[in-house]
Amino acid sequence: MMTAPALSISAETSVRPFPTRLLIDHRWVESESGETFASVNPATGEEICQVAAADSADVDKAVRAARRAFEQGPWRKMNASARGRLLHRLADLIETNAEELARLESLDNGKPLSLARRVDLPKTIACYRYFAGWADKVQGQTIPIDGEFFCYTRHEPVGVVGQIIPWNYPMLMQAWKLAPALATGNTVVMKPAEQTPLSALRIGELILEAGFPEGVVNLVPGFGPTAGAAIAGHMDVDKVAFTGSTETGRLILEAAARSNLKRVSLELGGKSPNIIFADTDLDEAVEGAHLGLFSNQGQVCCAGSRVFVEESVYEPFLEKSVARARERVVGDPLDPRTEQGPQVDQAQMDRILGYIGSGLEQGAVLACGGNRIGSRGYFVEPTVFADVGDAMKIAKEEIFGPVMSVIPFSSLDDVIRRANNTIYGLAAAVWTRDIRKAHAVANSVRAGTVWVNCYNVLDTRAPFGGFKQSGSGRELGEYGLQQYTEVKTVTVRL
Ligand code: NAP
Ligand code: MG
Repeated sequence: MMTAPALSISAETSVRPFPTRLLIDHRWVESESGETFASVNPATGEEICQVAAADSADVDKAVRAARRAFEQGPWRKMNASARGRLLHRLADLIETNAEELARLESLDNGKPLSLARRVDLPKTIACYRYFAGWADKVQGQTIPIDGEFFCYTRHEPVGVVGQIIPWNYPMLMQAWKLAPALATGNTVVMKPAEQTPLSALRIGELILEAGFPEGVVNLVPGFGPTAGAAIAGHMDVDKVAFTGSTETGRLILEAAARSNLKRVSLELGGKSPNIIFADTDLDEAVEGAHLGLFSNQGQVCCAGSRVFVEESVYEPFLEKSVARARERVVGDPLDPRTEQGPQVDQAQMDRILGYIGSGLEQGAVLACGGNRIGSRGYFVEPTVFADVGDAMKIAKEEIFGPVMSVIPFSSLDDVIRRANNTIYGLAAAVWTRDIRKAHAVANSVRAGTVWVNCYNVLDTRAPFGGFKQSGSGRELGEYGLQQYTEVKTVTVRL
C-alpha cells in the first residue's frame, strides 16, 4: 500500500500538569509493582508521559476501599439530594476547566480539538447534570398484594461497581458509566483504556475537588488482561459495566460467571446499516452518511459502516460520497480546519489498513483513499469502497476506522433482510420522505437505536444499547438507571 505525503503537526501540547498515578481511597498512589506504561500522542507517535499501571493487587486495594466506602462511609447515609449536588458540583468543575480538558482529550486520543470542544465536553457535562437530577428521584412502588399487608419496593444501589471503558470517547464514556452509578449510590472502581488514561485521571482530581467522600471513586489505569480482568473476576465486585469489543465482552461475561455471578452490562461493537432510499434528499443523505461513518476518525461503535443505497440512486450517491470523502480535511488535531485526526494507535491503524487490504483482495472497488498518510502519527485516508458484497469481511466485521462500504439494494424487503443479516444490532438509520418506509425499517431492524433522516443523534436522556451481540442492558436515560439498582421487596404484616 502507498504512503501519501506527510502532514505537518504542530508540537504544541499546552495542557497543565495532570495526575498520572492511581486514585485509590482518595489518594494518588504508585502501583504496588511500580510498573508504568506510556500514554502516546497519536498525532506524533511520541510519548506524552508515563502512567502508573494497575494490576490485580491494586484492583484489590481499590475494591477494598470502594467496599469500605459503600458499607461504612457517609455515602450510603447521605441524603440523595446531597449526592445530586456533588454530581452538579463535578459538572460545574468540568465546565470551568472545559478548554483544558478538551486539549487533554485531543492530545491523548488524537481527536480534533474542535470535536472535543463541540461534542465531548458539552455531552460529558450534560450527562453528569442529567444524572445529578435523578439522584433524588429514583423511587420504588407500593404494591396492593393480597391480604393485610403493606408491600413496597426499594431501589437500592448494587454496591461496588467495576467499570471498564474504551478509548474512543474517554471522558464521555467515563461520564456514561460514573454518573448513573454515583447518582444511585454505588461506589466505583474504574479502569480507563490503556491508550487514553489522562482525561479520566484529571476528572479524578475534579472528583476530589468536588468533595465526594473517600473511596467512592477509585481509578485504576492499566491493561485489559491484568487490571481489567482483575475487576471482571473479582469476588467482591457486585457488578461490572463494560464498553468495548464483542470479544472482550465475552471474556467479561465468562469471568463474571466463573467468579461471583456479578451483574454484567455490556456495550459492544456494531456494523450498523444506514439505508438510503431513492426518494430522499440525496445531498442530505450523502452528508448524513459521511458524518455517520467518518466522525471521530470512524472510531464510533454505532458508525454507519454498511451504507445500503437504492439501486436507482446508487451511482450519484457514490459519486457525491467519494467527492465528500476526498474533501475531508485530515491533519493536525489542533488546527481548527481539521475534520479528521489520527487513529488512536498503531495497532488500530494497522488493523484498519488490514481491512482495506482484505476489501481489495475480496474484490470490492476502492473508490477513494486506502492509504496511510505520512509516516508520523497514525493517519488514514478517508476511504470509500464501492460494490461491496454482503459476504466480504469489510461488510461483516467492525473496522472502527474511516472506511465506508457502499452497497446497492433493490427493494424494502431485500434491504431489511440484509440489514439484519449480522451478529450485531447496535444502531441503524433510514433516509426517506415516505413515512411508511421509515416506520417499516424502524420496526423491522433488530437494533437498539434507529435514526430516521439523521445519524449519530445521541442524547443523555435517551437510552442507548445493543440487540444481539452488540451487548446487553441500556445506558443513559431512565432505562440506564436500572443497571445500577437492585429492587428489594419489603412486606409488612398489618
Ligand atoms: P477492547 O480490548 O475491547 O478494550 C476495551 C476496554 O476493555 C479497555 O479498557 C481494555 O483494556 C479492556 N480489556 C481488554 N481486555 C480485557 C480483559 N480480558 N478483561 C477486562 N478488560 C479488558 O477494545 P480495543 O482492543 O481497544 O479495540 C478493539 C476493537 O474493539 C476496536 O477495533 C473496535 O472494533 C472495538 N471497540 C469498540 C468500542 C465501542 O465503543 N463499542 C470501543 C473501543 C473499541 P486495554 O486498554 O488494555 O485494551
Ligand atoms: Mg494516548
